[in-house]
Amino acid sequence: MKAPIIKHTVSEVRGRVALWRGGGSSIGLVPTMGALHEGHLSLVREIRKRAEKVVVSIFVNPTQFAPHEDFDKYPRNLDKDVAMLASTDAVDMVFAPSPAEMYPQGFATAVDVAGPSAGLETDFRPHFFRGVATVVSKLLLAVTPDSAVFGEKDYQQLMVVKRLNADLGLPITILGAPIIREADGLAMSSRNAYLGERERKIAGFMNRILTVVAEQVRSGAPIATAEAAGAQGLLQAGFDSVDYVAVRDAETLERIETLERPARVLAAAKIGGTRLIDNMAV
Ligand code: AMP
Repeated sequence: MKAPIIKHTVSEVRGRVALWRGGGSSIGLVPTMGALHEGHLSLVREIRKRAEKVVVSIFVNPTQFAPHEDFDKYPRNLDKDVAMLASTDAVDMVFAPSPAEMYPQGFATAVDVAGPSAGLETDFRPHFFRGVATVVSKLLLAVTPDSAVFGEKDYQQLMVVKRLNADLGLPITILGAPIIREADGLAMSSRNAYLGERERKIAGFMNRILTVVAEQVRSGAPIATAEAAGAQGLLQAGFDSVDYVAVRDAETLERIETLERPARVLAAAKIGGTRLIDNMAV
């Protein structure tokens, strides 16, 4: 077991990273909001393949939550998270800043990414990508890694981060990593902890329904028809409401009429008070 060092300030992180760089090490970053699970650990293992020093940031970012969302009840347990990271033997540093460290008095800057942030999540969480893009920019600038990895679980987020990295000309490689799932196919998520027993069973249908939508589109069904059938399927399975089931261009996330380039089916739906998202390649 390798216990990571824990740092809470940007200046401490920069000091340590400078030492590592002086020693010739490459640096990898895994940004998270904590409440870690096997999905997060897969990102750690992925980045470890290409970075000699691995930094995991743990920060529940207030600016990506709307006032009515779950910022206050989002699970936080730094000791447990650090123990999980230690068990991988692959993490050198945990960066766990306070909100005041990331957003000091007078903070007045935001990073706005257009393009891939249009539609989908933005239609239902209009504040979200501005918060994500701002905090990810700050984390990338604090750690200045050679590479950073993000999960395909949050597929639109991955595309937004790739866009901002390219547009700001940051000298960082952004990697995507596949979705890690439970035995019934439910994508692992810190928010799955909110699900009661009945809700947890229903949640397992999302992945199966997306598989059917992808198959229908591949076998030539009109995209709008497959999307509508997917949304109907989620409601029939017991979801209370569906935000979207959408088949999009896998890179730009633009709407498509026919399947000529790689596509992605993405969905968001609610059970009880819990909002789940998932996606897969078509
Ligand atoms: P979060 O802590 O939810 O902000 O997630 C931190 C990172 O872990 C993001 O890049 C997510 O896309 C990624 N992630 C979350 N769940 C999974 C999963 N089930 N499989 C792969 N990556 C994931």
